[in-house]
Amino acid sequence: MITSQEFVERMKSLKPNCYMHGELIQRDDPRMMVAMKDILMTYDMVDDPRFKDILVTTSHLTGNKINRFTNVHQSVEDLLAKQKMTRELSRLSGTCIQRCMGIDMVNALSIVTKEADDKNGGKTEYHERFKAFLKEFQDKDMVGAAAQTDVKGDRMLRPHEQADPDLYMRVVERNAKGIVVRGCKVHTTVGPYCDEMIVTPCRSLTKEEGDYSVCFSVPADTKGIHMLIEAANPTARKALPAEVANHGIAHSVTIFDDVFVPWERVFLDNDPQLGARAALLFALYHRHSYTGCKPAYTDVLMGTTALIAEVSGIEKQQHVRHKIAEMISVAELVYASGIAAAHTSTKASSGTQVPDVVFCNVGRKHAGTNIYHEYDILCDICGGQPQTMPYEEEYADPRWRPYLDKYFMRKADVPPETIHRAFRLAQDLIAGPVTSNMQIAGVHGGGSPIMEDIAIWGSYPIEEKKKIARHLAGIPETPKEPKDKK
Ligand SMILES: Cc1cc2nc3c(=O)[nH]c(=O)nc-3n(C[C@H](O)[C@H](O)[C@H](O)COP(=O)(O)OP(=O)(O)OC[C@H]3O[C@@H](n4cnc5c(N)ncnc54)[C@H](O)[C@@H]3O)c2cc1C
Repeated sequence: MITSQEFVERMKSLKPNCYMHGELIQRDDPRMMVAMKDILMTYDMVDDPRFKDILVTTSHLTGNKINRFTNVHQSVEDLLAKQKMTRELSRLSGTCIQRCMGIDMVNALSIVTKEADDKNGGKTEYHERFKAFLKEFQDKDMVGAAAQTDVKGDRMLRPHEQADPDLYMRVVERNAKGIVVRGCKVHTTVGPYCDEMIVTPCRSLTKEEGDYSVCFSVPADTKGIHMLIEAANPTARKALPAEVANHGIAHSVTIFDDVFVPWERVFLDNDPQLGARAALLFALYHRHSYTGCKPAYTDVLMGTTALIAEVSGIEKQQHVRHKIAEMISVAELVYASGIAAAHTSTKASSGTQVPDVVFCNVGRKHAGTNIYHEYDILCDICGGQPQTMPYEEEYADPRWRPYLDKYFMRKADVPPETIHRAFRLAQDLIAGPVTSNMQIAGVHGGGSPIMEDIAIWGSYPIEEKKKIARHLAGIPETPKEPKDKK
């Protein structure tokens, strides 16, 4: 395992290929350092007694001690530990822990590469390639980005039907040494500060779409990769420094401009059925990760709601308690769905533990359905203060500080600085640059809501439920065909 400093040094050694506000930026640009703070935390916490036991595990491949964010889950306990780790670390940062992207991809590929080799009767060697990659990923304690979502063009057209064939990532050349890929992945979280770009398709594919069914991994500074960056960083603090202001997040539009991928790093090619399976498996692991990070974010929102209510003197009011109870229900039901998904998980032929589809998806769906409602509750309990507070400079100015202390008072026994700090936290959460990231990710991260419904419908035994209804209604087991009306 490496330290966070070693990770930063490694990022600095990558060739610059990230563009932001008109500049070609370095990976240790101050804006990236804020955005990558969560990632750094996943390295720092391996020595923290509170996290050591869940963050450090043993590689099933090498027997070495590894960071759990590089682990391929082998058991129910592994899935539970990943979920717990995700919730506990995300609570500390107050945002998304970010490192789940790579590990969810790695778990998906561990399964698909084995299934591909089995299907091809030993004529392919995807799984051995994957294992060599995994060993390096674990030994070097790498961070992977999940470059899955394509730009997709006209949503009603399939990849091979688009006016421009490059609107989904595709192979444009195959030669003795490898493949050349072209396309553009979007919303790539951690793109600007990852070691590897791990790529899978993002949807179902048809037999015409062999070139689109490609999975691979390449270093993030590989020739031909260009990243256009957006960073959702919190407003910097001066007078009232606070942890919440240290953690941002960045995403990239990731252009693959005829990128060469050596065969050693190609994990699937020209197999639409398994390409689609890779897409679904990543989404499944990611939705399981959401059952850890979303409850953590609800913890943050509900904790802030309760704190604001307390400093305002309204914490015992019935409507406040009712609203916080709603938040508790969301957090714990989503978390429970992840636990259930782990306990009903199954083993893939590769030995990887696969969480249950229905439990992962209903949990993720419940989280997404409630995200704006949770913001609504915090906003309600705060009143208008988070939006209209004067800036920190005025708070720090001796001319205005006495006024701001006097007039911001709420309960007499609560010091004014506590009031200012609590409302600035609320401001960062509901009216700051990170707000929209958490809201939009809450809806679309891991796939739009309809994708959860499709996954639920695909796996849920609805016929069994109809059987129950027939039994209760007295309708015979095999319903008679309706007579033709003539
Ligand atoms: C903050 C954030 C972080 C993210 N991080 C990552 C990441 O790290 N890696 C990654 O790969 N992706 C990432 N994503 C992408 C995420 O998975 C996508 O946003 C999601 O899959 C939706 O895709 P889209 O944004 O293209 O929206 P669209 O697919 O355009 O969806 C918009 C609407 O159109 C509907 N729609 C789309 N196609 C059809 C159709 N054929 N028929 C009917 N309706 C349709 C959808 O149901 C939805 O209602 C991230 C997203 C966000 C917001």
